Amino acid sequence: MAQIVSRAAWGAKPPSKPLARIASTKGVKVHYTGGHVPVTIVDDHQECVDLVRSIQRMHMAGGREQPYSDIGYNLVACPHRRVFVGRGPHILCAANGAGLNSAHYAVLALVGSSGYTVPGDQLLHAIVDAIEHLREHGDAGREIRGHRDGFATDCPGDRLYEWIRRGAPRPKTTTPTTPSWTEDLVKDLPTLKPGAEHRHVKTMRALLHARGYTPANLHSTEYSKEDTDLAAQVAAFKKAKKLGTSTTWDRSCWVAALS
Ligand SMILES: [Zn+2]
Ligand SMILES: [Zn+2]
Repeated sequence: MAQIVSRAAWGAKPPSKPLARIASTKGVKVHYTGGHVPVTIVDDHQECVDLVRSIQRMHMAGGREQPYSDIGYNLVACPHRRVFVGRGPHILCAANGAGLNSAHYAVLALVGSSGYTVPGDQLLHAIVDAIEHLREHGDAGREIRGHRDGFATDCPGDRLYEWIRRGAPRPKTTTPTTPSWTEDLVKDLPTLKPGAEHRHVKTMRALLHARGYTPANLHSTEYSKEDTDLAAQVAAFKKAKKLGTSTTWDRSCWVAALS
């Protein structure tokens, strides 16, 4: 039921050394990114992918005092109800604080202390999906805690912490738990940024054309950095569909263009 984003799908680097395995935990601790998360993240899942990658780079480069062997969290929940595999189940995390990692798995929620700070329903669902995934596949116990339980930190922020204290209930709104056929269709289509050379650039041009835009060369498989006309059309399409204003043709664009 959780929509899992595999390490290959988000472009994870391999761990720098073998990670310690664990049989089970008492439960799960929830974290937030802290710092600034741009509000545009809710419109662009690609920003989630970029953020998870940058957190892994930061953790492995020593951004949390000593370099970690991998991203510190077991799973990461995003505002599009997707669950990224970090270290995954049955692996010791490096996020709760010294001496606290074997008792609880760590789930990161992509919400900050400025910008995007109010966890939406889809993000809350994703956190619960992640917790259930760790219970099912990692023998996690029933406890749900925040990072600040037993450790001096603001994490996971007051809003998430208050929700955790209420037992981390699923939001009442009903949300689809299975991807629509278009989401299923586009899951293997690439993200295309200026500079991309890919046969599906031609597909993107054809879809833009079908939607009333006027890409110059319908047969070209190149989205060159110099092609400011095409970039402007991508940005205009995204703006019209409320998908942000970047010139990156991502998954949300494929879904919008094919829906
Ligand atoms: Zn934390
Ligand atoms: Zn996302």
